[in-house]
Amino acid sequence: MRAAAGRPFLQGGEMGHHIYLDHNATTPVDPRVREAMEPYLEGAFGNPSAAHRLGRQAKAALEESREVVAGLLGTTDKDEVVFVSSGTEADNLAIAGTTLAYQDRGRHIITSAVEHPAVLETCAALEKGGFSVTYLPVDGQGMLDPQDLRRAIRPDTVLVSLMHANNETGVLFPLAEVAAIAREQGILFHTDAVQSFGKISLHVRHLGIDLLSISGHKIYGPKGVAALYVRRGVRLYPLLQGGGQERGRRAGTENIPAIVGVAEAARLMLFEMTGEAERIHKLRDRLEANISGGIEGVTVNGQQSPRLPHTSNLSFDGIESQTLVAALDLEGIAVSAGSACHVGNLQPSHVLRAMGRTADEVEGSIRFSLGRLTREGDIDRVLEILPRLVAGLRENAPVAR
Ligand code: PLP
Repeated sequence: MRAAAGRPFLQGGEMGHHIYLDHNATTPVDPRVREAMEPYLEGAFGNPSAAHRLGRQAKAALEESREVVAGLLGTTDKDEVVFVSSGTEADNLAIAGTTLAYQDRGRHIITSAVEHPAVLETCAALEKGGFSVTYLPVDGQGMLDPQDLRRAIRPDTVLVSLMHANNETGVLFPLAEVAAIAREQGILFHTDAVQSFGKISLHVRHLGIDLLSISGHKIYGPKGVAALYVRRGVRLYPLLQGGGQERGRRAGTENIPAIVGVAEAARLMLFEMTGEAERIHKLRDRLEANISGGIEGVTVNGQQSPRLPHTSNLSFDGIESQTLVAALDLEGIAVSAGSACHVGNLQPSHVLRAMGRTADEVEGSIRFSLGRLTREGDIDRVLEILPRLVAGLRENAPVAR
């Protein structure tokens, strides 16, 4: 389906939703990204390892894309970018790849209690293999105390992995400060920047970061493609073995159309970042202020912390979030209950639990995440509908307050 002229995106109705407020879960492919990808799906389909013209053409596209992504991340060294299949793979490769490569130095990892499962589950798997992991706590506003990191460091600590922005609350960790602590101690530092990249500024060299994950489908690029920044000199044990692609760090024939797509998506994100962040921030603040001002019993999770400009995580007293999500869905409004990136996940949010929220607050939490598709009228519509839905649900299915 092609976007009609003058209509940058598929409109809600065509996607089954009129109002999409779930951009942290995923985003649609921007038509400009699709256009950049198209030549590589059709005519220019070569394998970049092949010696003939089609192969060289694919190889050129791969290396140009690598250069673009490197530049946008803040490095001039394109070989520091490894293309992988997902943010999940980037996190796995960063954590397992480094700790397996450096285990002669020590087998202790530090992360936080609120990371994405791609980080937490990788750490849990390594624990089963004899590594030890410290999970740093957060306070009631989802914030980490850098002094806790300092205290957790041991002589055998080899890696610190702390996310930049939380996918559920949008809370931003003090990246420069924690990266500096790790660097001072000579410990590798990885950050999961899947949610923050392209939304707020980020510069790997300025921040002194060793490894950083981004993902295509969170930035209006295709799904199933991502990149891991790996500072030159950092060793990685490859998790995929085979043909030696990506300079031996990730075997497998490169997905050229997707890689071209993620590079173009990243370029557009950064090019449009300032204006978009301002526009969306205003819409988010209006949404949040009117909901918490107009509906009783609403808590804004992480409100006192620095946050991404487009994410709002709200707990509604006396509401079951799944029911509210379903009620909004019937009205054509797409939002998430807590973290809904993992299909069928009905687990109470580990992020809100780590923030000390009560069982009811966790149970009643909804995430609104705004983006390129969001317009003023969408916010008006949510503000018109939501008070009625919340009142109705509270009346019909009262949950003990
Ligand atoms: N890290 C964070 C913070 C995320 O929000 C997500 C996706 O929701 C991921 C990692 C995983 O990325 P992907 O969906 O590309 O595997």
